[in-house]
Amino acid sequence: MGRIALVTGGTRGIGGGISRALKEAGYSVAANYHSGIEMAREFCDRTGIPVFSWDVSNYESCRKGTVAVSEALGGTVDILVNNAGITLDGMLHKMLPEDWIKVITTNLNSVFNMCRAVVNPMREKKFGRIINLSSVNGLKGQVGQTNYSAAKAGIVGFTKSLALESASKNITVNAIAPGYISTDMTEAIPADVREKICSGIPVGRFGRVDEIAQAVLFLADDRSSFMTGTVLSVNGGQYL
Ligand code: NDP
Repeated sequence: MGRIALVTGGTRGIGGGISRALKEAGYSVAANYHSGIEMAREFCDRTGIPVFSWDVSNYESCRKGTVAVSEALGGTVDILVNNAGITLDGMLHKMLPEDWIKVITTNLNSVFNMCRAVVNPMREKKFGRIINLSSVNGLKGQVGQTNYSAAKAGIVGFTKSLALESASKNITVNAIAPGYISTDMTEAIPADVREKICSGIPVGRFGRVDEIAQAVLFLADDRSSFMTGTVLSVNGGQYL
């Protein structure tokens, strides 16, 4: 097929599932990571997917990292999945300014940094698929997540605007808003809170990473060319 896909935070959790699914579907895949070097090495050995370390919240690192991926895979990025993200939860009246800034820079500035790094070659090539991971909590809000919800809602506005700017160049830009998915991120939620969340999910369970990867495969496909500027909810039926 020859298409090159880059997944940020692509060596574990949802991103790991997305990288694996893209590779199985025949794409040339590169997975970015940041601090989890042991896990990234193990992921590379297990899957054969090359891994590249940089901090997505840093503009220059994203530019250099994307160049390194292009050199290694022999072409510019056709499919970008902006998956990397963090939570630093806390009620606003106690939230430290650094926890606000860290979540905004890692979850939202990163999307600007990475799109800026790949969009010009996509425009020249007249092909691109950009898929941004938002969240159910960016659409409906969540106690203790003003920083996270603001970043994830920001991704929605960003996605819609870049979709408009890119439509004439055959670049689609869409967001996926997962509900609660079983990963390290949700393992960090106290068990009693997880149970309460679960009781509010009509499907009756947390989602799996392959269920998000399936939505990515759909949006990444060459044939998904008339779908842009959308937010695809994959959340087990949660009412928004
Ligand atoms: P995890 O905490 O399991 O993994 C986060 C990933 O992001 C890791 O691969 C991590 O890499 C990477 N990452 C974090 N900070 C940086 C950084 N500065 N630079 C590069 N990579 C970074 O998260 P999930 O898999 O659960 O979530 C993936 C995405 O899906 C996130 O954007 C999250 O907000 C979103 N999402 C998740 C939901 C869920 O229920 N799990 C629900 C809705 C949305 P490393 O370990 O190497 O640092």
